[in-house]
Amino acid sequence: MATNPFVFDVAEALGGDGLPVTFTQTGPSPSRIGPEMIALPEGGEVTVEAVVTPLGSGVMVDATATGRLAGECARCLAPLTPEFDVTVNQVFSGGGDFIVGDPEAEEDKGSGDEVPEMVGTTVDLEQAFVDEMGMNLPFNPTCLPECAADSEVPEPDGVSGEENDLLDPRWAGLEKFL
Ligand SMILES: [Zn+2]
Repeated sequence: MATNPFVFDVAEALGGDGLPVTFTQTGPSPSRIGPEMIALPEGGEVTVEAVVTPLGSGVMVDATATGRLAGECARCLAPLTPEFDVTVNQVFSGGGDFIVGDPEAEEDKGSGDEVPEMVGTTVDLEQAFVDEMGMNLPFNPTCLPECAADSEVPEPDGVSGEENDLLDPRWAGLEKFL
């Protein structure tokens, strides 16, 4: 079974001397991550480098995912496969005794910035990347710097006069054959 590149066992950081520990994993993405037109495809190879800092019984994780997206140009529908590089920062609680801010206020909220819990000594960064990439990847990705097919696509309004100008010499040329 392939390793889920977003799930890290951070026992080494928890049992260490309090200094950040860097973990790196590469594997197939367990799901499609991104907005409608472009995303890290399910099964697409992604490398995740996570810097894990012990935080009491929890951990703070700075993680960068790199890989290749798959999508389509919103203008010409050409396939797009740009490389990506996305960083997230996520705190994981280590259980019931982990307190962030005012515990009573935290109970009242119950929505928004809830701190995910570690499962045993593992953290799952998938949701953090789902949130980050869903917000920050382009909703209307296009070819860069421009669509290769642009030269074949008729220009929009405002250039019809030029088309007429182009036609005139052609007619003029035909006249030579008449
Ligand atoms: Zn395009």
